[in-house]
Amino acid sequence: MRSSCHNMAEHFHINTPLLESAAMSKRVGTTVYLKMENSQPSGSFKIRGIGYLCQQLMSESKDKGFVCSSGGNAGMAAAYATQKMGMPATIVIPSSTPHFVVQRLEDQGATVKIVGKVWDDANAEALRLVETEGLAYVSPFDHPLIWKGNSSLITEAAATLGPTVKPGAVLISVGGGGLLCGVVQGLKDVGWMDVPVIAMETVGADCLNASVKAGRIVTLDDITSEAKSLGAKTVCVKAFEYSQSNEVTIISEVVTDQQALHAMETFLDEEHVLVEMACGATLAAVYSGVVHRLQAEGHLPLLLGPLLVIVCGGSNIDAEQLSILKQKLQRN
Ligand SMILES: *Cc1c(COP(=O)(O)O)cnc(C)c1O
Repeated sequence: MRSSCHNMAEHFHINTPLLESAAMSKRVGTTVYLKMENSQPSGSFKIRGIGYLCQQLMSESKDKGFVCSSGGNAGMAAAYATQKMGMPATIVIPSSTPHFVVQRLEDQGATVKIVGKVWDDANAEALRLVETEGLAYVSPFDHPLIWKGNSSLITEAAATLGPTVKPGAVLISVGGGGLLCGVVQGLKDVGWMDVPVIAMETVGADCLNASVKAGRIVTLDDITSEAKSLGAKTVCVKAFEYSQSNEVTIISEVVTDQQALHAMETFLDEEHVLVEMACGATLAAVYSGVVHRLQAEGHLPLLLGPLLVIVCGGSNIDAEQLSILKQKLQRN
């Protein structure tokens, strides 16, 4: 796992590169900037929000350690941050989590507890540990401090672009909505409230899209997408509220797992970076022509500034996982 070389840093995340992509710019017809969150310590943007949350919980209460119920990028970020803080962390995960995840979390100094078959079981145990042991609970996405930490993504991009450049749109993916809330708050902080956000999900992990369509918060029966990092059954209330408010434009779109996988492969071929399917969903908006269609249909104004793509990253992917995904999705 990747690590940051600052040990006395004020925060755990790094200032990630903002790269111009010639190949993507050509496709979109305007300049495309990639915010390379895949290069964060722990492999995704998650360290911004979860690192900040852990720091704040630490200074507010000299407590007994942290508990998180994610075997994915949130758990990795929690393990990374707490290890840097010299605090114990317990990560509770269901038995369905692959073994290499357990190994990676333990390598980060976390105590791993395997409880139940699905995430809800593991999360119930995490909440029990909060009650009985006084551990501080680290949610993967649903906390104002996580959103504040995630908002640094936008303030950082704004600082890099300089005062004369404003994006035409920001492109992200949505799981539980912690990234979306952070991006919206960052847009507020830098005075970019008129910049629309294109919020991507995959079919079968589309809790925001289902809620936007229904006009109320909808809980999915099941997660049928392979984009497991987007697999929240219910979007957080704040993200839904932003989608309904007039202060910001959020355009919710869905792609198939096949489109997300194709985007991962194209990104690997053209940019030489391997990302999770959760990030493939974002990239598919460019590679599968969603951005074009939105403009053609008038849902997105013609892009007057560059397209800012948040390459959210993800560490649950390697050459073997990629070929497993290919086999699975070609059969369907
Ligand atoms: C967590 C995650 C997401 C989704 O973020 P939410 O805050 O849950 O909406 C997207 N991509 C990656 C790689 C993630 O780890």
